Amino acid sequence: MTKDQKLELIFNAIKKAYPKRRLVFNDGASDNQVMIIGEAPGKDEEVKGTPFIGRGGRLLNKTLETIGWKRSDFYVTNVVKYRPTDEFGGNRTPTPEEIEKFRPALEKEISVIEPRLIVVLGRVAMSGLGMEGSMGANRGRLIEKDGHRILVTYHPAAILRNPNWEPQFREDLSRIRESL
Ligand code: URA
Repeated sequence: MTKDQKLELIFNAIKKAYPKRRLVFNDGASDNQVMIIGEAPGKDEEVKGTPFIGRGGRLLNKTLETIGWKRSDFYVTNVVKYRPTDEFGGNRTPTPEEIEKFRPALEKEISVIEPRLIVVLGRVAMSGLGMEGSMGANRGRLIEKDGHRILVTYHPAAILRNPNWEPQFREDLSRIRESL
């Protein structure tokens, strides 16, 4: 079975588990060597069915481009594959239960992609991989966990809220190349 066929099986199982949800799965070729993991889709992603295409995604793409990468160099996914909404229809942070429910599928997805490096964006993505510790303690370091090499940095939404963190975000992402 090819990687794409295996990914399709994973996505089919998620669809079966969440038949009423508008799901957002992945973006980028399955043989890319670097996997980027975010939190959960927002409104723009839900409409298009593609992760990281809204404001946060554009910031991520732009930052990657300034350090010599193209978005298409990466396999991009989220921990939670639907948009968590609050009572007003706005985005909300996934609950620990939602993160736990998606963890087995995420682990399977990682084992299919076999990335040489996983770039983890933000705290929710850290929890999705069972990582402990604060963002401050983990970001910008190359971490080995369960046989995977992981680089943690801020979520792009955090940079939109705190533009003064952008240099650290760029510096963390610039470690991708040396981590391969
Ligand atoms: N934020 C995420 O974590 N993922 C997306 O796909 C979009 C915004």
